[in-house]
Amino acid sequence: MSALNAPPRSKSERASKTALKLLVKALKKSPSEVSIDGYSENMDGSGYSQYSQSSLDESEENDIDQTCDNTHNVPEMNTVSDMIVGYKRFRAGVYTRQHSIYRDLGYGSQTPKVLVISCVDSRADPSTIFDAGPGQLFVVRNIANLVHPYDPYTGGANATSSGLEYAVKALKVEHVVVMGHGGCGGINASLQSAEPDNKIGEFEFVGPWVSVLNKARDKVRASNSFNPQYALELEGINMSIQNLLTFPFVKEAVDAGTLQLHGAWFAIHHGELHWRNNTTCQFEVVPAFTKEAMQAKASQARRLVRDSIQKSPSALF
Ligand SMILES: [Zn+2]
Repeated sequence: MSALNAPPRSKSERASKTALKLLVKALKKSPSEVSIDGYSENMDGSGYSQYSQSSLDESEENDIDQTCDNTHNVPEMNTVSDMIVGYKRFRAGVYTRQHSIYRDLGYGSQTPKVLVISCVDSRADPSTIFDAGPGQLFVVRNIANLVHPYDPYTGGANATSSGLEYAVKALKVEHVVVMGHGGCGGINASLQSAEPDNKIGEFEFVGPWVSVLNKARDKVRASNSFNPQYALELEGINMSIQNLLTFPFVKEAVDAGTLQLHGAWFAIHHGELHWRNNTTCQFEVVPAFTKEAMQAKASQARRLVRDSIQKSPSALF
């Protein structure tokens, strides 16, 4: 019986088998075949038709992750003391490693090329999801990542509009990304607002804010979608992109070819990013693995196999 077919006898043996499966797969399909070039080259908003999925499926990914330490080692962040402790970790860690970047940014100015309009939800932080450093993303956050239509007649008292204006007119960002996420409370509030005896009236600001979704909400409800929450999360992104174009300075920059508008949606529970295809307006899964990550996984698999053989040569036969 081959190593791949024999039932595992222990946790370490199971890890070895997973590693061997990964190694075989990695060797059969070189990282260069797992193309993400089409995806990255298409970051101009023209669509993502060229990208292909990783050669590793999700179950295999989970298998290899189970061989690692998966404990929740995120420190508490419930009190001001926790925040101070976190600040000290930042100073000793990230800041120490990037102090020259912070110094240059501090003495100079910010020149981000991307504005992200995202939800205030604590689980969907753009800088974390896109692994961005200081000065790289200009971020505006609000309930349900909404953009209301251009309306200067309210005295400009709209935080999102002011952030958008500064990003486009002063910073001259080249991309605006509206990013939604799964399980959005603001989207849920919009859906609930159509139900009898809803509690939206108890929220003086949330209610009027999410009411901009009413038309999209009614469209989703009329469609009898099996998952209206998810459907409205995507519809809200589409609506916000349309509303961006009602701002004269946005329309002008888009028409001039100096600004591109994008949509994205993040599935919190398994960390999956979906990107809006601007041609079809459909959201497509972004491959999670880069060539470098695939090579690292192949190396990890080789190490696990080598260690396993050294510890128990008979386990593989
Ligand atoms: Zn949200």
